[in-house]
Amino acid sequence: MKRFAIALLSVAAVLGGTRGGVAADGVDVTDANAWFRELGRQARQTQEDNGLIRFGRRLDQLEFQRISQICPTGTSYPGNNCAHFVSHVLHSGHGETCPSGASVSVHDLFVACPQVWKLNGGTPPENPCLIFVAEQGVAGAASNGMDRVMGPGRRHIGIYMDGKIWHYSNTRHQVEQATVAQFRRFYGGNVDLFCGQLTTNWRQGPAFR
Ligand SMILES: [Zn+2]
Repeated sequence: MKRFAIALLSVAAVLGGTRGGVAADGVDVTDANAWFRELGRQARQTQEDNGLIRFGRRLDQLEFQRISQICPTGTSYPGNNCAHFVSHVLHSGHGETCPSGASVSVHDLFVACPQVWKLNGGTPPENPCLIFVAEQGVAGAASNGMDRVMGPGRRHIGIYMDGKIWHYSNTRHQVEQATVAQFRRFYGGNVDLFCGQLTTNWRQGPAFR
């Protein structure tokens, strides 16, 4: 019903902008197929935008919460809830899980991402995405982003969106916000940063709906 309403609004918008067979946004409305393709594209874009807005709101609502409030079974792994937090947000069940089925290992999420990029500077190539910080040399991803490895050592994970990272502080026992620059200063600054692409299941899952 909502999608239908969006389509109707889009029709009105295109008709309203019609002048000599070309809509204000440059779509030739005399070509019915192109017109309907454009309506479909606009509806999908609106859905995607709304999903991102909902996701951002959810992340904001989680700030300062403890993992025992987020995990339905109230489970907490002392000193190791960063992947656990991310997995409850994204509904990720890869590898080893908590009693309610959320992944608990940074490594399992690192491997589950369809693509991983080393972040040498600037901002992540995708928004939103996962962001990993590891002691230098602990983790690596081939330039094709597919072959990757994460060995033992200190590592941490958060969710990046719009310039901010939401992550679980294992020392302050709460969800916090950080910047990419702050993540770079972890572990005395001797770190590598990686971005992980969200899987289609995560992007279309409950967190975005
Ligand atoms: Zn849990």
